Amino acid sequence: MKEKIDLLVQLQECDNEIGLILNRKKEGPLKIRELQERLNTLKEKFQEDNSRLQALKKERLNLEQDVQDFENKLEKSNIKLSNIKSNKEYQAALNEIEELKKAKFQTEDRVLQVMESVEEMESICRGNKDKERELEGTFESTKAEVEEELAKMDRKLEEVEATRARLSQVIDGELLSRYAFLKERKNGHAISAVIDGVCQACHMNIPPQRYNDLIRGNALLTCPNCSRMIYWGEESSFKKATM
Ligand SMILES: [Zn+2]
Repeated sequence: MKEKIDLLVQLQECDNEIGLILNRKKEGPLKIRELQERLNTLKEKFQEDNSRLQALKKERLNLEQDVQDFENKLEKSNIKLSNIKSNKEYQAALNEIEELKKAKFQTEDRVLQVMESVEEMESICRGNKDKERELEGTFESTKAEVEEELAKMDRKLEEVEATRARLSQVIDGELLSRYAFLKERKNGHAISAVIDGVCQACHMNIPPQRYNDLIRGNALLTCPNCSRMIYWGEESSFKKATM
């Protein structure tokens, strides 16, 4: 009987490991997807900064054109001024020139402000480019690491599955069905170690008589609480296999 239980314990170990590997295999792609999303969000923000920079540059060009227009008008007004004969017209032309000058100065101030904003934005965009390159580097290296890790896990999975297949062939058919039945209904754990009289799967005490029978090891017993098959986990050959 002990040999049969030993095989079941080994089978359970294989299934535990397969479950762990399958779970861990999900983590890598999740990490890659999260990084990709972060990268996309940042790229969108950087794109917005770029658009803002282009808009500012356009505004600067328009304002510079406005300044040029004011200068042309001033030139015309000055020419007009030199041809005026009456005092009243002369005063009106002078006022017009004053207004044009004021408007031109205001626009020039605005040009300076926009130029400052352009410089700030250019510096931000340069920083963005550096950050983007850095993040893309991190993304690529993480992706490579994850892919390598996945390949390693696939190889390990193949190994464990091969061991599992060998075990399935030597385990008694009826016992194997019972194992499969319990595994399906008991959260993947069909057989559990009992240590110090406690079932390690459901953490309930095994009645003393059954515990004594378990230690004797003549029959395959079950936990009265969780119905899993149980074995004495303190026996030296099972010490490493406790779950
Ligand atoms: Zn139990």
